[in-house]
This record gives sequence, C-alpha cells and structure tokens, in this order.
Amino acid sequence: PLVLGIETSCDETGIGIVRGTELLANAIASSMDEHARYGGVVPEVAARAHVEALKPTLDEALAEAGIRYEDLDAIAVTSGPGLSGALMVGVSAAKALAVSLDKPLYAVNHLVGHVGADVLRSREDHEPLEFPTIALLVSGGHTSLLLVRDLVSDVELLGETIDDAAGEAFDKVARVLGLPYPGGPQIDRVAAEGNPKAIRFPRGLSLPKDMAKHRYDFSFSGLKTAVARYVEKLQDAGEPVPIADVAASFREAVADILTAKAIAACNDLGVPRLLLGGGVVANARVRDLATKRAASAGVELRIPPLSLCTDNGAMIAALGAQLVMAGRAPSTLSFGADSTLPVTDIQVM
Ligand code: ATP
Ligand code: MG
Ligand code: FE
Repeated sequence: PLVLGIETSCDETGIGIVRGTELLANAIASSMDEHARYGGVVPEVAARAHVEALKPTLDEALAEAGIRYEDLDAIAVTSGPGLSGALMVGVSAAKALAVSLDKPLYAVNHLVGHVGADVLRSREDHEPLEFPTIALLVSGGHTSLLLVRDLVSDVELLGETIDDAAGEAFDKVARVLGLPYPGGPQIDRVAAEGNPKAIRFPRGLSLPKDMAKHRYDFSFSGLKTAVARYVEKLQDAGEPVPIADVAASFREAVADILTAKAIAACNDLGVPRLLLGGGVVANARVRDLATKRAASAGVELRIPPLSLCTDNGAMIAALGAQLVMAGRAPSTLSFGADSTLPVTDIQVM
C-alpha cells in the first residue's frame, strides 16, 4: 500500500511516503535552530513552526515520491507521545487530509514508529527485521528499552528513564561546558580529543540495590549533576576545565550504561537482536560500544541510517503500511493527541 506519514511530535515536521516497505520520500523541516537560544525545545515555538512547515513539507514529499494525493491508499499520523501542541498540528492536518481525500487514517505511536523505521531497510542489502527484537530508543525526549514481539500487535516496555532522557543529558552537559545547542553533536566532537577514562562519572541505576528494581531503567540526572559539580569545583579553584576529558568521560558513562542495559535485556530474555533508534544513535561512542558488545554477546545489531533514526515521517508511514498489510481497521476520526501515549498502544482508534 502507498501510505503517507505525518510526524509532528517534537521539533521535526516530517512527511514520509512509503509503498509497503519501500521508502519513496522522507521530507523533513526542523525548528531546531529556533530553539537554540533557549537551550531546549520550546513547545509553543515548535507547534507554530509545524503549522508553517506542513504545507511545504507535504509538497516536497509528494514531489520526491512523484505521486499525487489521489494515489494514496492511506494516511498515518503520530498521535503521541510528544508535545501536545505540536502533536495537535499533525493530527488536525491528517484528519483534514483524510476527510477531504476520503482516505483511511491510521493514528500511530511515535515510539513504535521508531522501531518501524527498520522495515524500510528490508531491501536487497538488508535482511528483513525479525521478531522478537529488543529496541533501545534514545533521543532528546525518550530513553526507552522495548521488547517487540510483533510490530503491529505486541510491544512491551521493559524500562525507561526515571528522570532525564539521554539526549537531554547531552544537551544539559554541553551547556555546563559552554557548548552550543544541540549538545549531542558538540560533545561527540569534543570528546574525540579527550580521554574517556580521565574521570569516573557515575552510572545511574547500575548498583546491585538499584538493579533489583530498575534493571532496565535509566537515570541521567545524577550523572549530569556530577559533571556540573566537577566543572564548578575547578572553576571555583580558578583551574582550567579539561573540556575534552570531561566530554569524553561523560560520553563514555552514557554509552556504557545504555549499551550494558540493552545487551543485558537481550541476554536475560534470550533475544539475539537489538535495534537502535533516536537521535542519540548518531553518537560515535554509543554506536561503537553497541557494536562491540553486541558482537561479543552474539547479538545482531541493527542501526537504521541516521535520517531514519531521528524523528521523521517515513517511519510513521512505514508503521501505517504495516497496519494496513496486517488488515487493521483504520482509526475513527475521534482520536486526539496524547502526549503520554503508552508504548503498548501501537495504534489509537
Ligand atoms: P523525540 O524525543 O520526540 O524523539 P527529539 O527531537 O529530542 O524528539 P531526535 O531529533 O531524534 O529527538 O534527537 C535529538 C537529540 O539527539 C538531541 O538531544 C541531541 O543532542 C541528540 N544527539 C544528536 N546527535 C548526537 C550525538 N552525536 N551524540 C549524542 N547525542 C546526540
Ligand atoms: Mg528533534
Ligand atoms: Fe522520536
């Protein structure tokens, strides 16, 4: 089926078009630059940017795919989780399109969409995504570890962050180090020159007493505070801050905890597959350590191309197409934007 996907849960306006598992278009407009001076995504600003970007991004995707609206078999849209106001823009636009074109509409879960992105790699050069798989989703808004038994019917939340998301921690630590927003790429760049063993920063929820209750959960606020305290102490003493070493040691702590817990889930549950998604997957050390640890654990590691890891419309279209192919009924038009939609709700009716 030919499906158009609309994604507006955060700061990316994404319009994707797929035919089954084939990617035809993935147009993206980001309001990231507008949030830079606030050091994080401002919900009101993001929502307004979606309103402005939707039409041009739709036009771009249709042109890229070389199709017309009439050709579509279905429309899919992110219903949640995400920023309420931002989600509402996409949901309203999707309903308007579905009603005016008389096409079925599928309201889907953003996080499951991240997993769905991987089916788009299932062409000559890649084996199809197999289930069950463990999925680690790490972005500015999420840090979630999932057990996906079936993409359209069975997703279980194993654990998630109990405070900051991993990307958020990168952004906050970058600010402490005087690096611009978004902090992830900046820290990654600076860390390449530093020693990851220079400072031993804490690994959240990794002590035996925490592991009993939070085996698959994450915590980054203690790490962030530890970095801030380390930097402040040096500044107060009038000593220079070894920025590269701090960045490398911080990055090492995040990569260590993310990959350790993801591989532990694979081992514990006997699932020999791990899929990564979200903007933090761009991180060189996260990819590196995931690759090494997966290999030594006998786990097949799947990392979609970065354009499908960060927020995008193609993954939403891909999940919509999976629902169509599974024979699911379309959503009724009474669904709304749900900022806290649980990952178990793959489709919203
Ligand atoms: P959502 O959480 O809803 O998916 P988002 O906009 O936060 O939304 P993404 O666009 O996927 O998600 O990811 C952005 C985050 O990824 C930012 O926090 C950014 O700092 C982080 N990031 C990007 N590149 C890197 C990198 N090389 N290393 C670490 N973090 C990175
Ligand atoms: Mg983003
Ligand atoms: Fe996302």
